[in-house]
Amino acid sequence: MDKLVYNFSAGPAMLPVEVMKQAQAEFRDFNGLGVSVMELSHRGADYMAVAAQAERDLRELMQIPDNYKVLFLQGGGRGQFAAVPLNLMGKNAKADYIVTGQWSKSAVAEAEKVGKVRVLDGLQKTADGRQALATGWDLDPTAAYVHYCPNETVEGIEYDFIPDTGDVPLVADMSSTILSRPVDVSRFGIIYAGAQKNIGPSGLAVVIVRDDLLAQACPQTPAILDYAAMAKADSMLNTPPTYAWYLSGLVFQWLKRQGGLAAIGERNQAKAELLYGFVDASDFYRNDIAPSARSWMNVPFWLKDDALNDAFLKEAKAAGLLALKGHRIVGGMRASLYNAMPIEGVQALVSFMDKFAKQHG
Ligand code: PMP
Repeated sequence: MDKLVYNFSAGPAMLPVEVMKQAQAEFRDFNGLGVSVMELSHRGADYMAVAAQAERDLRELMQIPDNYKVLFLQGGGRGQFAAVPLNLMGKNAKADYIVTGQWSKSAVAEAEKVGKVRVLDGLQKTADGRQALATGWDLDPTAAYVHYCPNETVEGIEYDFIPDTGDVPLVADMSSTILSRPVDVSRFGIIYAGAQKNIGPSGLAVVIVRDDLLAQACPQTPAILDYAAMAKADSMLNTPPTYAWYLSGLVFQWLKRQGGLAAIGERNQAKAELLYGFVDASDFYRNDIAPSARSWMNVPFWLKDDALNDAFLKEAKAAGLLALKGHRIVGGMRASLYNAMPIEGVQALVSFMDKFAKQHG
């Protein structure tokens, strides 16, 4: 029996209930084969069809142009922190990294092992002291690429624009925002994402890479991180995370049934506005990020007294609202509102927050 619970985890995060039910229904007997998808050889026709369909659906959802490869790899988001510099610094070992929070900072640490990295501050304060995004950077036109993180999962800071980097390829860590709204893929050299938020279960990373960037890997690049080698082998140079790939495919089909990224984007905006609107109107809760830089996916908020945090989390859990504790670096609370979170979950959260504030304010 389904217990009504809303899971606000930042990742691994909730997946669409419909998808979970479908996976459950075909868990032990996929397509009448009498075995589970996870028991199929990745090289057999049955699995290859699953893999190819997932790629087709992702291409359709994101309108990925033909001159981009789509790779299904392992190693999550951090694997790509290492793979990006290894793949792009073979001819020109310098890159610009725009840093806006924890995840873009962690990406720098990996790139510095491979080449020369210039760190550019991506943040600025508004006149009223709120955290906002810088809109201009001192970019190096001779850099191999510019890296940024469109949505900082920890801080809840999200770009509402794509940085213009001229002819220098733009690389985006979209781990916590991919598939949350339409995006013009042609503006990017590489888009990558760990799967465990809007794509599927952990263990998988999706990489979308423009063809002309496949020929500049460092010679020491391990084959399983090498985009050209992986593209040539249809992401099956080694055994891929087959079950995660299959489940991601079910999520892509679910997204198509929702009306695609334009429709899901509108829903995500409405969900985020509901929560931010409530927080802004309250003198018990606060969020200090400028409205233009607020994440639709990860909404951090703070109670007026940190001493109430434990009670808030305990009572929220009892009300079926899970995983609201903020990241330890920023404290407070964080509600992650990925695609699978229905508006009803946000309504339930807001009404709980209202009740809690009245009791403890
Ligand atoms: N980038 C971002 C934006 C993330 O949110 C995360 C994980 N929360 C990562 C990278 C790291 O992903 P992984 O744990 O899959 O390596």
